[in-house]
Amino acid sequence: MTQLSDFESLGLSPASLTALTRAGYEKPTPIQAQTIPHALAGKDVIGCAATGTGKTAAFVLPIVERLHNKKGLRALVLAPTRELALQIAEHSTRFGAPHGVKTVVLIGGVGMGPQIEGLKHAQICVATPGRLIDHMGQGTAVLANVEVLVLDEADRMLDMGFKPQLTRILAKVPRPRQTLLFSATMAGEVAEFAKQHSKDPVRVEVARSGTTASRATQCVFEVGQNDKTPLLLTLLSQGEESTLVFTRTKRRADKLTKSLEKAGHEVERIHANRSQSQRKYALDGFKSGKFRVLVATDIAARGIDVAEIGHVVNFDLPHVPEDYVHRVGRTARAQASGHASAFCAPEERELLRDIEKLLRNKVPRSEVPVTDPVFIAAAAAERTRQADPGPRGHGHGVSQRPAGAAPGRHARSHPKKASSGGGGGGASSTAAAAGATKPSGQSMFRGGPRGRR
Ligand code: AMP
Repeated sequence: MTQLSDFESLGLSPASLTALTRAGYEKPTPIQAQTIPHALAGKDVIGCAATGTGKTAAFVLPIVERLHNKKGLRALVLAPTRELALQIAEHSTRFGAPHGVKTVVLIGGVGMGPQIEGLKHAQICVATPGRLIDHMGQGTAVLANVEVLVLDEADRMLDMGFKPQLTRILAKVPRPRQTLLFSATMAGEVAEFAKQHSKDPVRVEVARSGTTASRATQCVFEVGQNDKTPLLLTLLSQGEESTLVFTRTKRRADKLTKSLEKAGHEVERIHANRSQSQRKYALDGFKSGKFRVLVATDIAARGIDVAEIGHVVNFDLPHVPEDYVHRVGRTARAQASGHASAFCAPEERELLRDIEKLLRNKVPRSEVPVTDPVFIAAAAAERTRQADPGPRGHGHGVSQRPAGAAPGRHARSHPKKASSGGGGGGASSTAAAAGATKPSGQSMFRGGPRGRR
């Protein structure tokens, strides 16, 4: 098995090596070191790798090498969500350029016209299943020359009910072909699916199914529902890192966003009811540092690729334990460090037990900072609101600025620069990316070993 090495030894061309240097990638991540040589040799690969492991470049680089100066649509990459498709397309556009390889991305929520035009020139098509089927129906996407197929986040595509669409699409992709399949887990249905659609595959695994792939430190706050917003406001007041917050529902995402806004935070939200342009606005703003906080539901957050998410907050625990792994994988990506906090209300204890069972690890508990002035003020405001929601109160979530938390008090005084220094400059070896949970052992995460970025 290829050990961690440099990109040169993986068999990549000088053009790709230059592109990697420009992208700031210094060393391959474990999934890249293990996948690239086999994929370059034309083998099928089944990769068990969570997000944040560098799996996108692991399949994009061999594809662009293979398609160097070829014409026509030759590679099809299927992904579960629009955001993930866009992220993949960003990679394949960047790494395809030196090889004369173009990418078209087919996703819903935007017009067909430019996609039809793009299909005329592209060698790589990155698509979500629904929109690809629309194009196939119209005869604008023809898969007859496809020689490489990638199924990214295959587990998620199956979870989201895409199996009938995948079956229709795969029936149109000619054989023999090279199939590269990536999935965060290889449990149940996805294992069978992978077997059906690959031939003598090489199996590559960088993190055991159910491990958090990143080097994120993690902690759990056992907290009442009504104290969740005060707790989040307190944690936000203690640092400046960009923060991705997960809520269980779209409604809770909307409410929390309002509460954070009222407390003076630069915040946006992303969920399935937001239009493509609203999602893009939120994501771009989060990436650039304009919005320090992004509130998201699970589906919408798939594929969010922001290099510098320092803190992931599980404001609500996910009902599917695997989602916890995906969420935590949003921070401490590739070579950066980060922290993940989970807020566990008494009624969510069972969900936490399921998550810990999956991780095969207990996540360290942190104490709710009940003596912090920000917490005291926010909790008092929440109690007042609960007792008398007033004309503006509609249910849950803090809708008033906490006493003592002046507007902008928590807002960053210095907008975070999108310095992507983490792209290879990290002190630790990428091997750590394959490691499991690292308990912080601290009562408050600020005191933990998390590197401030
Ligand atoms: P992925 O798991 O493919 O979504 O990648 C996670 C993040 O790591 C993305 O922001 C990539 O651009 C970045 N990345 C991937 N490979 C490397 C590498 N070898 N060195 C530095 N950053 C990387």
